[in-house]
Amino acid sequence: MKKQGKGTICVQGGWQPGKGEPRVLPIYQSTTFKYETSGQMADLFDLKAAGYFYTRLQNPTNDAVAAKICELEGGAAAMLTSSGQAASFYSIFNICSAGDHFVSASVIYGGTYNLFAVTMKKLGIEVTFVDSDASEEEIIKAFRPNTKALFGETIANAAMKVLDIEKFARVAHSQGVPLIVDNTFPTPVNCNPLDWGADIVIHSTTKYMDGHATAVGGAIVDSGNFDWDRYADKFPGLTTPDDSYHGLVYTTAFGKGAYITKATAQLMRDLGSIQAPENAFLTNLGLETLHLRMERHCSNALKVAEFLAARPEVAWVHYPGLAGDKYHDLARKYMPHGTCGVLTFGLKGGRERSVAFMDALRFISIVTHVADTRSCVLHPASHTHRQLSDKQLAQAGIEPELIRFSVGIEDIDDILADLTQALAAS
Ligand code: PLP
Repeated sequence: MKKQGKGTICVQGGWQPGKGEPRVLPIYQSTTFKYETSGQMADLFDLKAAGYFYTRLQNPTNDAVAAKICELEGGAAAMLTSSGQAASFYSIFNICSAGDHFVSASVIYGGTYNLFAVTMKKLGIEVTFVDSDASEEEIIKAFRPNTKALFGETIANAAMKVLDIEKFARVAHSQGVPLIVDNTFPTPVNCNPLDWGADIVIHSTTKYMDGHATAVGGAIVDSGNFDWDRYADKFPGLTTPDDSYHGLVYTTAFGKGAYITKATAQLMRDLGSIQAPENAFLTNLGLETLHLRMERHCSNALKVAEFLAARPEVAWVHYPGLAGDKYHDLARKYMPHGTCGVLTFGLKGGRERSVAFMDALRFISIVTHVADTRSCVLHPASHTHRQLSDKQLAQAGIEPELIRFSVGIEDIDDILADLTQALAAS
């Protein structure tokens, strides 16, 4: 049968009930699962048989949602995590240990930057940040013999830079390491990094996938394409016996499922960042309409970007979907049907004007979030980055006047009317 379209996968993927089973994916609200013989349970602990025994490792609700996201991304195996931060951490920590190094695009979500630069450093794992717009030769200079991965964000939050995924994949593969891409902003509806050479994709499902601001969560999807055995010396955790599983070798035992099985069997077992099944259920409800919501987010955001770009009070607008944007060509290549609903802009009059404008908005609210149904704004210089001086803000690529606008799925006329009255009032 022909591969199903993304809309069908959003609605139907992951959970296919049999006769008499619930039509809606049930919440398996159980920490544990029953067996009849001690041997049955022992086989699960030895990874000799597949099955559920304790929700910290696996849960049927979570697995159904992971399977849907896996299908949407065109991956071989996937898992859910408790948050996007946990997904970013696991994606690197699954293949890096103390003494290892990885390379990342410098313009990424601030929380990921901090995780990589500060917290992972405390674990003995070093990162080098590179300008994602640099040439392949320049990026390759950041690699060392102990480099184990390359990381980037399809559309960077909040810089709105588009990653040249094929370029990053070529660099990673020329250095014998996988490319890991955070695909949160476009979602698999608008972009599939695995089709462009990425090896692993991660998500903050908290954003568009849930889409209603109800559940924090994350996901990791592995393409199964990276040949760990070819670089066996670099990735001993996948290619040599695991003492905590009686000498099992993940690549030999699980093939394309090796990376995800190792992350589940070792990291989830030991660190326990499991997504609550109830959150997975909410994420699944969100996923059922993701394809419809993304269309509306993107068409509303484009109209907002065009509106702002034409206003005399507005100094600049960054939206890769907007013709003339620095990243428009890359956006058209990797996301021909739309990018995302988030954009940034700056008002003439700087920081004070931006704050006055935001305070004058009526239903467009001020929240620390992006990518849910409701339009919202954030002023990084006053909120997420408020401890930085203007000079430090410039180094972080954040202009003092920058407003991040997550365009929701309300009626566009109402969104534009709220913007118009707030511009007049500020
Ligand atoms: N990746 C991106 C692109 C994000 O925007 C965020 C959060 O804003 C994260 C990862 C972290 O996700 P979470 O908040 O679910 O931990």
